[in-house]
Amino acid sequence: MIVFEKINELKKHLSSERRKGKTVGFVPTMGALHQGHIALISRAKKETDIVVCSIYVNPTQFNDKNDLAKYPRPIEADKALLEKNNCDILFLPSSTEMYPNGEVSEEWNFGQLDKVMEGAHRPGHFNGVATIVNRFFQIVEPDLAFFGQKDFQQLAIIRAMVIQTNSTINIIACPTLRESDGLAMSSRNVRLTNEDRKAAPLIFKTLSWIKDNFQSKSVKELVSDGKKQLASIPNSKLEYLEIVNEETLLNTENKNDLGVVCVALKLGDVRLIDNVKVN
Ligand code: AMP
Repeated sequence: MIVFEKINELKKHLSSERRKGKTVGFVPTMGALHQGHIALISRAKKETDIVVCSIYVNPTQFNDKNDLAKYPRPIEADKALLEKNNCDILFLPSSTEMYPNGEVSEEWNFGQLDKVMEGAHRPGHFNGVATIVNRFFQIVEPDLAFFGQKDFQQLAIIRAMVIQTNSTINIIACPTLRESDGLAMSSRNVRLTNEDRKAAPLIFKTLSWIKDNFQSKSVKELVSDGKKQLASIPNSKLEYLEIVNEETLLNTENKNDLGVVCVALKLGDVRLIDNVKVN
């Protein structure tokens, strides 16, 4: 694996590979890598010739400075895991490379897509995400870019950004990887206390219960019973539990809609999100 820290060196290398006819796959991450990230790398390995993984904890997408400060950064373990999984290139830029004019987001207009759920609870978050992913796209210029459905709303934002910027990059959505007890893999899981970790699978259990009962109960009932189930998790604070249309991200009660149930919940000071398609 080749590690690049400088934009111009990475660009020079990729353009020479492209001249040889190689295709480029890109997996942007914030590090503290787990099998969910590795699944994206493996998919990219299957579909493209050269896989670039970036690790950069992007400050402009953190509305909570405590969350940013506590975000895990085990860079040596990450490098070893990427090597083991045959990642071709690791791009590890500094903030001065990514934000030469200072760490500020551009303003984007995503209509309702960034007003709901994560957008409503994390002001400025998606401006930060779009700014950094767009910058990475301009640097790496991949043929395909791989994102997890775990960050379902982020995927909708990235797809909208690609359209707005007239980009030709293909966005590939990859399924959520889970621990054996159902908890969605996340870099933040390592910050859970033992007790909170034991209780955390109830999040996926609740989402699965909503999916299983989607045709037989009303949306109101599903959401209100789901909230009761989540409230039984000790030390937790629910931010939202919503059933939304897959494309508009607006609440839906229509059983024929492609619906997704989405949740954000704090366990202690660790904020977790998850989602499941209900039909
Ligand atoms: P992050 O490092 O959290 O910014 O995530 C980097 C990429 O990995 C994003 O596209 C995420 O959606 C994806 N990802 C994170 N967790 C998972 C998971 N459990 N399963 C699949 N993809 C994931």
